[in-house]
Amino acid sequence: MNVMIVDDDIVDSELMSRTLKKSDLDASIMTAETVDEGLNHSRSNIFDIILLDYHMPNRSGLEMIAELRKETRPNNTTIVMMSTSEDQEIAIDCIKAGAQDFLIKSEINVLRLKRAILHAQTRFELEKKLFASYGKMKKIAESDSLTGLANRYRFDDALKINILNNTRTDDRIAVLMIDLDNFKYVNDSFGHDSGDELLKQVVNRIHKCLRGNEIFARLGGDEFAISLINLKSTKHASIVAQRIIKALRNPFTISNVEINCTASIGISICPNNGVTSTDLLKNADIAMYRAKNLGRNQIRFFEESMQVQFYQRMLLENELTDAQHNNQFILFYQPILNPWDKTISGFEALIRWDFAGDIRMPDSFIPVAEDSKQIVPIGRWCIREAIRTIANWNQSTHQQYSMAINVSPIQLQDIDLVCFIEQCLNEFSVPAQQIEIEITESVLLKNTCVSKCVIESLHELGCRISLDDFGTGYSSLSHLQNFPIDTIKLDRSLMPVSRDSKSSRLIEGVVALAKILDLNIIAEGVETAEHLSLCKELDIFNIQGFYYSKPDSRQNVESKFLNIEA
Ligand code: C2E
Ligand code: CA
Ligand code: CA
Repeated sequence: MNVMIVDDDIVDSELMSRTLKKSDLDASIMTAETVDEGLNHSRSNIFDIILLDYHMPNRSGLEMIAELRKETRPNNTTIVMMSTSEDQEIAIDCIKAGAQDFLIKSEINVLRLKRAILHAQTRFELEKKLFASYGKMKKIAESDSLTGLANRYRFDDALKINILNNTRTDDRIAVLMIDLDNFKYVNDSFGHDSGDELLKQVVNRIHKCLRGNEIFARLGGDEFAISLINLKSTKHASIVAQRIIKALRNPFTISNVEINCTASIGISICPNNGVTSTDLLKNADIAMYRAKNLGRNQIRFFEESMQVQFYQRMLLENELTDAQHNNQFILFYQPILNPWDKTISGFEALIRWDFAGDIRMPDSFIPVAEDSKQIVPIGRWCIREAIRTIANWNQSTHQQYSMAINVSPIQLQDIDLVCFIEQCLNEFSVPAQQIEIEITESVLLKNTCVSKCVIESLHELGCRISLDDFGTGYSSLSHLQNFPIDTIKLDRSLMPVSRDSKSSRLIEGVVALAKILDLNIIAEGVETAEHLSLCKELDIFNIQGFYYSKPDSRQNVESKFLNIEA
């Protein structure tokens, strides 16, 4: 056993050596008279035990413990402090600083010293084990178990330190917020194991775009953050971001299936866009949302104007929540009729938002309601209200009018929608055949299992399915055949400005196609007498448009078209 005795009192030091030798510890002993001498010895030798006097000239024993415990190389030396004083507080200070035991010189004898050394060694072993498991726990708590990346907590901590260190230079820090574009789709369609595998592969590819001095963290789900430090110019941040976008361009292979997974990246710069980690993360997030809204798979730097838009959007989201509680939504109805005899076959329900007397149009809030998923409850309200109305009208007029209801792609992701519609039909005793569900092409393009199943189930229930805004998107014949579509609604943009124009040939072609496929046709946007006569020429049996009527309130429709008294 290698022992060093550090004591300025040569008599005490000698006494200690002799006591040690009398024990059966088989000690080889070295001595030092000052802290500096002791530290020098400890750098060139490895000691099992250091017996250290508390009271030393120049530098105290306490300082020596601090120096020893600061060393980066493996620190396996057990330290036993000695003092002439019986002061309890000194003893506690020494233990806190990193000593394993404290002995009072006048009490030291062979037995006590041996016992103290052995106990101190055991205690030190235990301390080291405890420290190692604490380190492990800390790492687990601060890192993401799937990818091994830092988690939000550690990212935030490290960013704070980077910001603090950065104040002394003109350098910049960039925070990149990365969100995968279609991860949810992968998770939903291929299962969580595939989702996890994809995340790991994405992380691997991103790692290759980095130097290694960045903090790269998984903030949760499919959201990642990277902070780049010591940037001389913001251009470097965009270079790294572009590298990442490029790295994700090629498809990933997960369980033999090729999957595409792009990312949207928002970037904020310190100090330009904020000097706290909270502001930098928030602004990078706002920029990332902008990148998503602009069509995904791209990079956006934060700009002040984004913040204004972001808050306006947040405000609108909150107002939408309030609107539901305060019953501010109303339905307007627009008749669908026969162009020859003007008989009405049904109505389309169109939502309006009565915001303290100011009537807001759907285009101003439906996209936000869709994004925030509030369209699900709002849409359910529309469905129930429209069914309630048509039940009432058909009872009062003894007619069989149909009611067309717009259903957003988000609502079609809700597997309970079919049940809900069935309940409403039962509640108001409306036959399913009188309900026309209007879906848009984007639903068919995405073609997720859930929406396909919902559309098919609605059709089986007896509802009719219309494809809205036909002629604006990417309609392909295969879509028309893969889904149970009864009717197409020609988008109003297909209505020609003048006869003989190219667009009038376009509508002719589309109508011919629909007829071959045996689909019903409704022409939207019939605004003029010319439109009306064109529809007649093309043998279109159902028209909808301002020429006959704009969408109107329930009361006005009842008095104008249905002879129902208020
Ligand atoms: P849409 O389903 O294509 O509805 C037809 C839109 O065309 C309505 O606009 C209607 O007012 C307008 N319109 C009708 N005839 C004419 C015409 O002759 N000329 C012109 N220029 N426009 C005409 P609105 O009511 O502003 O609705 C806009 C869109 O909002 C709707 O387009 C639909 O996509 C959506 N929307 C409306 N109500 C709902 C709803 O309850 N749920 C969902 N998810 N979306 C809705
Ligand atoms: Ca519609
Ligand atoms: Ca339409």
